[in-house]
Amino acid sequence: NAKAEGRNTTCFYAEELTERAQRRLDLAQEMRQGLQRGELIPYFQHQVDLTTGRVVGIEALVRWHHPERGLLTPGAFIPVAEEVGTMAALGEDILLQACQQGRTWLDQRREFGRVAVNLSAAQFHNGDIEKTVRRTLEQTGLPAQCLELEITESTIMDLSPRTLERLAALRRAGVSLSIDDFGTGYSSLLYLKRLPINRVKIDRGFIWDMGTTPESRSIVDTILQLAHVLGLEVVAEGVETIQQRDQLIDAGCRVAQGFLWARPEPHPHLRCCSAQASNDPP
Ligand code: C2E
Ligand code: MG
Ligand code: MG
Ligand code: MG
Repeated sequence: NAKAEGRNTTCFYAEELTERAQRRLDLAQEMRQGLQRGELIPYFQHQVDLTTGRVVGIEALVRWHHPERGLLTPGAFIPVAEEVGTMAALGEDILLQACQQGRTWLDQRREFGRVAVNLSAAQFHNGDIEKTVRRTLEQTGLPAQCLELEITESTIMDLSPRTLERLAALRRAGVSLSIDDFGTGYSSLLYLKRLPINRVKIDRGFIWDMGTTPESRSIVDTILQLAHVLGLEVVAEGVETIQQRDQLIDAGCRVAQGFLWARPEPHPHLRCCSAQASNDPP
């Protein structure tokens, strides 16, 4: 009867919930182990100046070399890490590794501009992020101007005094800030004026169909115009075709990132600084 069925359903859900909770706990445990064993590492993707072709930045994107499940991209573990509370530890680890790598590139006189590291909402809101950043820079010897932090629009959307103060504190530490996935949040374009940031990254959703969808093209144009009025740099994300690149150049976009130039890789190709090259014998 209906009552018995109802009870069974409840039981079934309870069991499923327990199983899900258990899987989460397993994953949290696995991730802590993975972090200790160095299975989680940053890959890097170039950001290219469209007018000169030079690399002006390089974004760290985490990958998990999982012993059983192979190479995992963030979509497979970041949402869970956020739920089970391992995201802060993961974020700090990637920040450290990315800064170490940046320091190595400096020592090798590689041209990389800045290392850009993604910050999760948890890292931004819960921890003492400014201290963590300062400590990591000190520990690795990476100059602050070689580090950029990417923060998504949704992380800072509240525009609370606390959020604004935190952003300002990061800027005082000397790092630059960019708004990631710009255009996907619900905030007004005008709120950019109030933020102490250096750059906005146009979400790849708009770049993707810019050629076929006039609305996307208009959004890209509008973001570029407003950013320039406000003195902000713009990075276009997810550029895959020459047509997209050319349209971006026409629209006045200076910097872009995407498969057209490189995929995220553990050992990206970076050329030596020209300063070094000019000292070399011909
Ligand atoms: P995101 O920061 O917006 O990074 C851009 C994503 O677009 C990356 O996906 C990158 O691999 C992908 N991408 C780059 N160029 C192209 C292209 O031309 N076409 C297409 N289709 N995709 C492109 P990925 O590596 O899977 O990372 C996904 C998201 O995970 C990132 O989005 C970022 O929000 C998050 N994430 C990655 N690493 C970290 C990290 O260390 N910490 C935190 N908190 N989040 C991270
Ligand atoms: Mg990013
Ligand atoms: Mg993005
Ligand atoms: Mg994204």
